[in-house]
Amino acid sequence: MADVRYNQLVVCAHCGQETPNYEDCVLCGTPLQDPDAPPRELEADDLQTMMMDAKLQEIKTKRELAYADTWDHADWMAELLKLAEIAPDHPKVQLYIGAAQIEGEQYRDAVVSLTRALIADPELADAYRRRADCQYILVPVLGGDTQAYYDRALADYEVALSLDPDAYTYNAHAAIIGSLGEWQDAIREYGQAIDLAPDYPETFFNRGYAHKVLGNKDAAIADLERYLGFEDHWNQEMVAQAQAHIKEMQEADL
Ligand SMILES: [Zn+2]
Repeated sequence: MADVRYNQLVVCAHCGQETPNYEDCVLCGTPLQDPDAPPRELEADDLQTMMMDAKLQEIKTKRELAYADTWDHADWMAELLKLAEIAPDHPKVQLYIGAAQIEGEQYRDAVVSLTRALIADPELADAYRRRADCQYILVPVLGGDTQAYYDRALADYEVALSLDPDAYTYNAHAAIIGSLGEWQDAIREYGQAIDLAPDYPETFFNRGYAHKVLGNKDAAIADLERYLGFEDHWNQEMVAQAQAHIKEMQEADL
């Protein structure tokens, strides 16, 4: 299980920093087994940075909806670092440092802190979820090796689901496998999310869209209408999209 969970730190021969036991260093991209091989591309251009900012805002909003998590961790970084000096092996301290680093857009450092949290407590589901969120944010928008980031995000979301299944994680996992073309499995996972949290609107939007892709028109319209039927919507763009999808499918019938 340890290999799947990536909850070990090793020292990178290139940058000298501790990094999780992926095939390459999360901080400098150097392959860990072969430090002389060319490193993974880590530079983020303006477009990549813009996309990462948008994903961060999306994740913060969804976490607030799913967990009522409104704590602005970044403001507490100085205190957290002091706590880490006193109790370096405390999983929650490392978890919150990771959360603060995510809010400060230090996603790669956050991956290391969250791995420290997991070394101290390998059952800490939220550390897997947050580390998966980091990998999802880091997926290169324009080419590059997207698969490594998707694989790491999926592996962590899967461990989180095995420890503490919830709607947030099912949605996050299903959205990635859907984008990789596994729409039928995504629909099954959205169903599991709905079983756990029938009042989480986004799941209906996501499942409706997955049904639309597969041509299941009636199921798609039913889910998108259920999504629109909720009172509160955090994202007006999604509301407009849901309406447009329904209109498109209804007009195709005429
Ligand atoms: Zn390195």
